[in-house]
Amino acid sequence: MSFFEFSEKLLTLGEQAKIECENKFKEIDDIARYNQQKVLSAFIKNGVSESHLGISTGYGYDDRGREVLEKVFADCMGAESSLIRHNFVSGTHTLTVALFGLLRPNDKMLCLTGRPYDTLIGVLGVDGHSDGSLTDFGVQYNQVELGADGYPDIDTIKKELSINKYKLAYIQRSRGYSLRPSLSVSDIEKLCKAVKEVSPDTYIMVDNCYGEFVEKKESLQVGADIIAGSLIKNPGGGIAPTGGYIAGRADLVEKCAYRLTAPGVGGEVGATLGHSRELYMGLFAAPHVVGEALKTAVFAAKLFEKIGYDVKPKAEDKRADIIQSILLQNSDSLVAFCQGLQSGSPVDSFAVPYPAPMPGYDSDVIMAAGAFTLGASIELSADAPLREPYAVWLQGGLNFHSGEIGILSAAQSMIDKGILAL
Ligand SMILES: *Cc1c(COP(=O)(O)O)cnc(C)c1O
Repeated sequence: MSFFEFSEKLLTLGEQAKIECENKFKEIDDIARYNQQKVLSAFIKNGVSESHLGISTGYGYDDRGREVLEKVFADCMGAESSLIRHNFVSGTHTLTVALFGLLRPNDKMLCLTGRPYDTLIGVLGVDGHSDGSLTDFGVQYNQVELGADGYPDIDTIKKELSINKYKLAYIQRSRGYSLRPSLSVSDIEKLCKAVKEVSPDTYIMVDNCYGEFVEKKESLQVGADIIAGSLIKNPGGGIAPTGGYIAGRADLVEKCAYRLTAPGVGGEVGATLGHSRELYMGLFAAPHVVGEALKTAVFAAKLFEKIGYDVKPKAEDKRADIIQSILLQNSDSLVAFCQGLQSGSPVDSFAVPYPAPMPGYDSDVIMAAGAFTLGASIELSADAPLREPYAVWLQGGLNFHSGEIGILSAAQSMIDKGILAL
């Protein structure tokens, strides 16, 4: 008996795609197994106990659950210390706290990976957004454009660092809504070496969103000084209901803690209000869940390659994050894809997404997400600005079995609307 109605041809293609992905799936399992052991051993080493899963209120002084979680997370990331908190409201907020914690008036910051993710533009204060931004507080921002191959332009970066004294070099690991390649940990290693060679005192910060647990190593193990990211992406394992993290060198994490709460107070406070259990469970689940999201991405790439679309990255490519884009060529295909993906979601499957204007975009945007946690992109979700090359960016999948159905539903929707003939 079958619960979903997919065309026979689509099902056959899906089965073939899975067979062709077997080696890739094995590689993903191997990484997930390694990272799961890393996380489990950090739990054991730090003596995580039932009493750490409890609740604190008020100032949250001496909340052992919070303190131990921050040690466990630091160990998982190869950090000296960390902040992992439910009261970071988003990835952007977390990155903002880190930047404002580390930079002072007249300091210079250099982004090594071209234009940063859309929501950071207002934080930096470029493009005329200024009120309360880093620019507003006298921080000077500069960026080095990516090379023609989409990778950081190391020669120009070294030259710029040798001319001007930068307090902070910023690396964005994932590609956001662009088609540039995401940076692998070894790409980050090369960048860190280049920075330290010319300017050893410059802090290296990585926007680590979507990269956690994708490889066996993390950015801090190859020369980055500080990383930050969101808990409704990879490291929350689909269980953390909200939050973010900062991890890295202890002196730098402390500066960020002073910005998060108050100078002199730092990370010693912060009631956990009962969220510790979810953050522990999410971190524990994360290596496996990231593996499931990667399998979903690889399957989507292979299926749509077989159907005849250009995909980035390709199914066989080495992955540096959980994002998959498919170049769908026209807006009708994008809309059909997103509506289909939504119809295969566990929550709000009956909702029909349509393109609409979004602040910060010069074209309409369509988003599909039927997630348990609002906006959680470790759950299967897709978004697309309606403009050339009509690419959809999809990510997440709490388990491959349901991720597969989401992807097949997207393709079936294109068939049903007469856009795709197999
Ligand atoms: C998601 C993301 C952010 C911002 O996170 P939000 O939670 O959406 O604010 C920043 N940088 C990158 C590369 C991201 O993928």
